[in-house]
Amino acid sequence: MNRRVTLAARPRGLPRESDFALEEVPVPEPGPGEVLVRSHWLSLDPYMRGRMSEARSYAQPTELGEVMTGQAVGEVVASADRRFTAGDHVVGQLGWQEYAVARGGALRKVDAALAPLPVWLHVLGATGLTAYFGLVDVGRPKPGDTVVVSGAAGAVGQVAGQLAKAMGCRVVGIAGGPAKVRDLTEEYGYDVGIDYKAADLPSTLRGACPDGVDVYFDNVGGAISESVFRRLAVGARVVVCGQISQYNLIEPELAPRNLGFLIVSRARMEGFLVSDYAHRFDEGIRRLGALLADGRLRYREHVTDGIENAPRAFIGMLQGENRGKTLVRLA
Ligand code: NDP
Repeated sequence: MNRRVTLAARPRGLPRESDFALEEVPVPEPGPGEVLVRSHWLSLDPYMRGRMSEARSYAQPTELGEVMTGQAVGEVVASADRRFTAGDHVVGQLGWQEYAVARGGALRKVDAALAPLPVWLHVLGATGLTAYFGLVDVGRPKPGDTVVVSGAAGAVGQVAGQLAKAMGCRVVGIAGGPAKVRDLTEEYGYDVGIDYKAADLPSTLRGACPDGVDVYFDNVGGAISESVFRRLAVGARVVVCGQISQYNLIEPELAPRNLGFLIVSRARMEGFLVSDYAHRFDEGIRRLGALLADGRLRYREHVTDGIENAPRAFIGMLQGENRGKTLVRLA
C-alpha cells in the first residue's frame, strides 16, 4: 500500500494538522513512459504554503483532495521508460507519499556514491541551487563585499553564507534563537551571527556592517528587511529570494515601508526563481559538489520520521523549529 498526505482544507494563517489528510491507497502501476519510484526522503519547503492557497502565484495551487506537492529522492521500483532501471536513484516532484509514478522526463538520476541521498534535496538540490544562483547571478558579490543573509541558518541560508565566504566576502547572518546563531559562526563560518529575536536589529546591524551592506540575500522580508535597507551601501544588490515572514499572515503587511533607502544607496532589488535556472543546474551542482568534496560546505539536516508526521514537521518549519534543512525520512 502507498501512504500519502493530501490537502484537506485551505489554511487561514498558519496551517493546522487538520488541513492535511493521511490516506492509504494501492501502489500505482507505471503506464507507458512512466516510472514507479519508492521515495526515501521527502523535502519540506516554505513554497508549499503558497501551493495550499489560491492566491496568485507563479504556480498552480494544489487542489483540495490532491496529494501535497513536494520533491523527493528515492529508488526506481519498476520502469516503462528505457532510460531508467530498477535500483536507479532519482529525484523529482513526487509529492508527499511513499510511492509515486512519474514521467521519465520529469525525473533526474542522482549518484548516491557522490553524496548521500538526502543531500540531493538540499546542498546539491533545490535549496543549494537557490543559494548558488541567487547569490552568484543576482547578488554578484565581489571579494571584500559585506553580504547579509536573513533566514541564515535554514536550508537556503546555510549554503548562501558559505558560498559568500568562499567568494571572499565578509558575511553576516540573521536567524532566530541562540542555537541557530551559534551554528552560523561555529558551523557555517559566518563572521557575525545576529539573533533577530533578541537583538535590537538596527543598532546591531550598524555595528556588524560598519561599511554598509553590499549584498542582502533576503529569505524573510518584513521588519528584518526594513532594518537591513537602512544599512545598504551605495550600489547594493538586494536578492529577493523569499518572504517567509509574510506567508502565514491573514492580512498582508505593508512592509517594507522604507524603500527610500534604495534611492539613497542607488540599490537594485531583484526577485528570482530557481526553476528559471534549470538549464544551468549542472553548473551549480558541479560548483557546490566541489565545495562539498573539499569540506568547505557544511550542512545540518532536521529529520522527521514517517510520512504521517510530515504535516507536523512542515508546520514546525514554518515556525522556525528546524535547525537546517527540513526532511522526512520515509524508508
Ligand atoms: P528554512 O530552512 O530557512 O526554514 C524556514 C525558516 O524561516 C525557519 O526556520 C525560520 O527560521 C524562518 N522564519 C519563519 N518565520 C519567520 C519570520 N516571521 N521572520 C523571520 N524568519 C522566519 O527554509 P528554506 O531555506 O527552504 O527557504 C528559505 C526562503 O527561501 C523561503 O522564504 C523560501 O520561500 C525561499 N525560497 C525561494 C526560492 C526561489 O526560487 N526564489 C527557492 C527556495 C526557497 P528562524 O528560526 O531563523 O526564524
